[in-house]
Amino acid sequence: MKKLILITALMSILSTSCTHLNNKATSDTNNGSVSINKRKILIIDGQNNHNVWPKSTVMMKSYLTESNLFEVDVYRTKPTWNGGTHPEFYASYSNSSNFDVEKPQMDITFTPNFSQYDAIISNFGYKTAEWPTQTKRAFEVYMESGGGFVSVHAANNAFPGWLAFNKMIGLGGWGGRNEKNGSYFYYNEDGNLIENKQAGKAGTHGEKHELQITKRTEHPILKGLPTVWMHTKDECYGQLRGPAKNLTILATAFCPKDKNGTGRHEPTLMTIRYGKGRIFHTTLGHDDYSFESVGFITTFLRGVEWAATGQVSQIVPADFPTKYVSRKLNFN
Ligand SMILES: [Zn+2]
Repeated sequence: MKKLILITALMSILSTSCTHLNNKATSDTNNGSVSINKRKILIIDGQNNHNVWPKSTVMMKSYLTESNLFEVDVYRTKPTWNGGTHPEFYASYSNSSNFDVEKPQMDITFTPNFSQYDAIISNFGYKTAEWPTQTKRAFEVYMESGGGFVSVHAANNAFPGWLAFNKMIGLGGWGGRNEKNGSYFYYNEDGNLIENKQAGKAGTHGEKHELQITKRTEHPILKGLPTVWMHTKDECYGQLRGPAKNLTILATAFCPKDKNGTGRHEPTLMTIRYGKGRIFHTTLGHDDYSFESVGFITTFLRGVEWAATGQVSQIVPADFPTKYVSRKLNFN
């Protein structure tokens, strides 16, 4: 009993040590099953420093469609950036109005009808051109009213000066972000969540390598998954910073110093509440081999379902990775 009281006391100290985050085991519960109606999902893309984006949009759409849970549309900016490396995939969701440009360029016609969808997935990235003001406002209203949003990898690099967007993603990197955007957050080796307010830029990663992911709380997105699993080769995003309001860190990745990482367990899978809206944020997904990870696919599909419905109905796949062995599905 003394041990239990001690653990409870420690947990209460830890849960009050960080005012912004919401990492309580009971923060989000699965209250029932989802409707059999397919949820409507929109992938938005067109400008990303990662030239894999035309292929990764096709990959994500394929995973979503094959789950039989979702219907998926793609909405692309007319001027595209870095669209030329995968022409066969670029052609899948481009038409005669699309043209690839040397530098990111604002699309004044970019006006997705967000309210038609249960969740929006961003496959934008670093240096994405600003959206028209009315489109930004429409997205804010959609999220405030209970929309769903999924931020994948470099989507958290975009729009450093858009305060509402930074609140939606919770933590972001690069683009001039620094201590003015918020604190650094990470887990130490003792499993404690640390908030670090020191000055400095936001966003770093070392060499690409397989990432060991550690579950940090119970959540429908993680239900039934092992405490630790191995993700295929990817970038280990670290030193993200942002408002971190209503943010729950679901899982972290360890970024070892011998791979030029931070030496810390960095936030990797997160949920954020914004108004009545739900956001799932994954920092994974640098290149096609990262998107082929069973760990990525599983948490992505579950995160999209949670963002769209607040619930997760999916079971753990039989080939889910183990603590030391990653698994991937080749995508052709
Ligand atoms: Zn990357």
